[in-house]
Amino acid sequence: MTESLASRLSQRHLLGTETLSAADALRILDTAEVFFDVSRRPVRKVPTLRGKTIVNVFFEASTRTRTSFEIAGKRLSADVVNFTSSGSSVSKGETLLDTVHNLEAMRPDVLVVRHSASGAPHYLSSRVRCGIVNAGDGTHEHPTQALLDAFTIRRAKGRIEGLTVTICGDVTHSRVARSNAWLLTALGARVRFAGPRTLMPSDTSSWPVEVFDRVEPALEGADVVMVLRIQRERLSGALLPSFREYSRTFGINERRLGLAAKDAIVMHPGPINRGVELDGAVADGPRSAVLDQVEAGVAVRMAVLYLLCAEPGQAAVS
Ligand code: ASP
Repeated sequence: MTESLASRLSQRHLLGTETLSAADALRILDTAEVFFDVSRRPVRKVPTLRGKTIVNVFFEASTRTRTSFEIAGKRLSADVVNFTSSGSSVSKGETLLDTVHNLEAMRPDVLVVRHSASGAPHYLSSRVRCGIVNAGDGTHEHPTQALLDAFTIRRAKGRIEGLTVTICGDVTHSRVARSNAWLLTALGARVRFAGPRTLMPSDTSSWPVEVFDRVEPALEGADVVMVLRIQRERLSGALLPSFREYSRTFGINERRLGLAAKDAIVMHPGPINRGVELDGAVADGPRSAVLDQVEAGVAVRMAVLYLLCAEPGQAAVS
């Protein structure tokens, strides 16, 4: 229950990677290795979180993240409940805080929250007693995505430190870009952002990244090419002439990938706009790590849930 919540991380919530220490991040990645193996067994379930309750509170659309958290909780034997705002009392005008206080009255251990407003999970974290995991807040952060990306990179390359990671596309609207920039640089990678000026925040000076307004120089020698989705739902005004034009100047195809390191991997958080930011042949090609990212997501989320809410002394896998 909430009172006995004993986090094995140095914090009770996972709100972002900007505030996550490298030590906590590595603890999550190392723990995820154990759960990755569990997920490849014939019986993919451990009793680790028996008696714990996790509520997925999603106010925005999701395929991978919500399913992944649900599978993660179930593989740990927790009771997992999914709340989606459509069909709930949110449509009757209930506020975010009232909704969450009502869910909290049912005594969950962790609320996994996705919301279109940047800062919503942070706002809730100081008003509830249970743990909060940010599953994506507006254009701000998506920490478990960055953690699963780091896990995927570490497995593919054997390390993160010293690698060059090029993140390209709609950086302005991307919580994935922000969370990865903080996390990957904390773990010793060099991060480059590439995108049209209209899709790059006007001030990137506080970010630990190198910024390019053409994709070709940003790809040169990259070990990892992380492609961002054009966030159609967050594009306002004429930020792009057309998707065709974007694909012609920034889309990642075989030809552009030739500029990266020979053994570079290609990542995308999904959902992919095929033929816009990423060519279908590359998405399905031998260098694509897209489905590895999805598999890693379950293990990483199992690790996060375990580290945030297991009983003291409870081993990850017994
Ligand atoms: N699925 C990721 C997110 O929720 C990436 C995206 O939607 O483009 O942020």
